[in-house]
Amino acid sequence: MKTIVFISELTADVQAQWLALFKRYLPNETILLSQQIDASQVAKVDIAIVANPDPKELARYPNLVWIQSLWAGVEKLAIELVNSPIKLVRLVDPQLAISMAESVLAWTLYLQRNMAEYAQQQQKRNWSQLPCIASADLRVSILGAGELGLAAINALKKLNYQVNCWSRAAKNIEGVTSYHGLNDLTCMLKKSDIVINLLPLTQFTQHLLNEERMREMPKGARLINFSRGGIVDTKGLLKLLEIGHISHAVLDVFEQEPLTPTDSLWHTPNITILPHISAPTNRESAVAIAAKNIETYRSQDIIPKAVDMKIGY
Ligand code: NAP
Repeated sequence: MKTIVFISELTADVQAQWLALFKRYLPNETILLSQQIDASQVAKVDIAIVANPDPKELARYPNLVWIQSLWAGVEKLAIELVNSPIKLVRLVDPQLAISMAESVLAWTLYLQRNMAEYAQQQQKRNWSQLPCIASADLRVSILGAGELGLAAINALKKLNYQVNCWSRAAKNIEGVTSYHGLNDLTCMLKKSDIVINLLPLTQFTQHLLNEERMREMPKGARLINFSRGGIVDTKGLLKLLEIGHISHAVLDVFEQEPLTPTDSLWHTPNITILPHISAPTNRESAVAIAAKNIETYRSQDIIPKAVDMKIGY
């Protein structure tokens, strides 16, 4: 009998909730926590379901064939498994894409409609009307046009924004200007009022948004980072915020998470800090998708599309 191991850094309570849900969807599977699997059973494990696992835990299982991540971002595991034959499958969930599209719309509107400035004005009992730019005149550029990027693009299009996107391969999306390649990135940044990062963190995207590139954005442009902190060079961003070249940044992700209470970012003017909530995994839909992947593997020996280790996503 094959066994599935569940490995995560989640609290015992949360882990138990995930496991209960998996047992409901996959009643015939043996799904155990790592600590429940002794040396005589490790060889039976062929699938791991993971959420931020300690890679050392994975090394216990000599016959592991593939890993189902419960998160969409798998950059740490992709580095660990770069030379491994084990396939890494990340979460691809339409519900997650809907959630990210909602966040992109919400925080684009927050910037467009000057919500941070009005909150500050209220503190000072200051009644001043700020200029409002119509969505049709606002250039919103999405870095990454994958599962989440495409959902964000579609949501923005419905509200009539001028939408640009940047990806590795050129895209053909009606009403959207597509850019690809590093030269194109600069071209797009120059034509952006709001830049929204939805790229995966890889060796190619680490600090992609450095000071030099962010300087290409027009003076007063805004930045939203919703994918991974390591893609934006924080020092460069702080410099540009200080001189007003970037007028506001909404940051949901950071190089070190959680931010410590003493981190100076908390008090930096013109930054809105969110605690990594732009697209939280929906437990029910994630389990339904992971369970279907596992059933397909058991019945047809097909592993879902895995991360391409050469490109890191
Ligand atoms: P995805 O489907 O793999 O899409 C990635 C996109 O990035 C693709 O369009 C890809 O281009 C582009 N890309 C990757 N490397 C590139 C490079 N070097 N140059 C140019 N374009 C590049 O990923 P996703 O599902 O949309 O997720 C994106 C990221 O969001 C995840 O990796 C995760 O880090 C983050 N995330 C954050 C949260 C949160 O709550 N904050 C939640 C979920 C996910 P091609 O289309 O040409 O391949």
